[in-house]
Amino acid sequence: MIHFSRGIPPREAIPTEAITRLTRRVLDTEADRLFQYPPIGKYAGDPDLRRELAAFHGTEAERIFVTNGSLQALDLLAGHLVHPGDVVYVEAPTYDRAVQIFERHGAKVVGVPLEHDGLDVAALAQLVAAHVPAFVYTIPDFQNPSGVTMNDSKRRELVRLAAEYEFTVIEDIPYRELRYTGTASASLAELDLDNRVVTVGSLSKVLSPGLRIGYVIADPALVTDLAGQAEGVYLSPSPLSQAIGARCLAEGLVQSNVADLRRLMAPRLSAAVDAVREQLGEILVAAPEGGYYLTVHLPVANDEATFLADARAVGVVLTRGSAFYPDGSMPPQGTIFLRLPFQAMEPEEFAAGIGRLASLIA
Ligand code: PMP
Repeated sequence: MIHFSRGIPPREAIPTEAITRLTRRVLDTEADRLFQYPPIGKYAGDPDLRRELAAFHGTEAERIFVTNGSLQALDLLAGHLVHPGDVVYVEAPTYDRAVQIFERHGAKVVGVPLEHDGLDVAALAQLVAAHVPAFVYTIPDFQNPSGVTMNDSKRRELVRLAAEYEFTVIEDIPYRELRYTGTASASLAELDLDNRVVTVGSLSKVLSPGLRIGYVIADPALVTDLAGQAEGVYLSPSPLSQAIGARCLAEGLVQSNVADLRRLMAPRLSAAVDAVREQLGEILVAAPEGGYYLTVHLPVANDEATFLADARAVGVVLTRGSAFYPDGSMPPQGTIFLRLPFQAMEPEEFAAGIGRLASLIA
């Protein structure tokens, strides 16, 4: 079986030995405080970790709020921003778990078309003119699921709309550091002069998902509010996990692992792009320069469920692409949307999987 399914880091992307070594050092030097409750007033996160994350992102520690993975950051932000009946605009397609979280908080989640160079900001402008949302949720860099990156002019226009119509933009950037070629655009937060952008980040893809370290970068007033929510539910993330994250950042392990990931993933990405172009034709949604995902609009006569069952019969496991489309939005007529994560596969295996799909279509 060839699995084009989960977007998780492969074993070789997690620096297990180095994290273990630094964990021993943390335990040797800080154990006393790590097995106690975090001090009252420190519920926004371990001070060392907040300082290290702030340095990593070129911001101030009081703007950092640490969570148990970035999914919890999305949950707490939705709890703060959404009132029942509020509208939230998201990219279509987008990260399915985020949509579920927003809906659980009572939001009406509306999909805005995603183009090869990011959110259709002109379509968004019409929507916000008709109905100002609680927030817009975007994954501007190497988006999950599509692999798309938002271009500079759309970034500027999105931030301008947020200022004009006074709504929050949540930019979720777990893949931003994973750029294998090309140069980065400014983040939305860097373009924001009006304090409208809230950034959600994660150590899951640059260090380890098992540490469950996510974070929000926001105005200190919002950080205080989120810390109050956390205090009412779980106090704070695990002090041990946070101390390990802080030590890994302080010792440069996240930074060196990002460099290693670029070397590991660049050939996987370029081989994956070649395999799709050679065997399936020009059907890529975008030509990503980083991240985990390559996606296609695959022209198939059958419906999605039938195609996925047929693919499984020839040894290819796929994710249901329609699950990433909120609110009844759909990929282009006559196609199905396939997410093809390349990060965990050697080029030969990826090409073999694409070969099986090509024969199936033929
Ligand atoms: N946001 C996006 C866009 C993701 O792709 C993921 C994980 N796949 C998450 C958030 C959640 O990551 P975590 O909770 O591990 O930080």
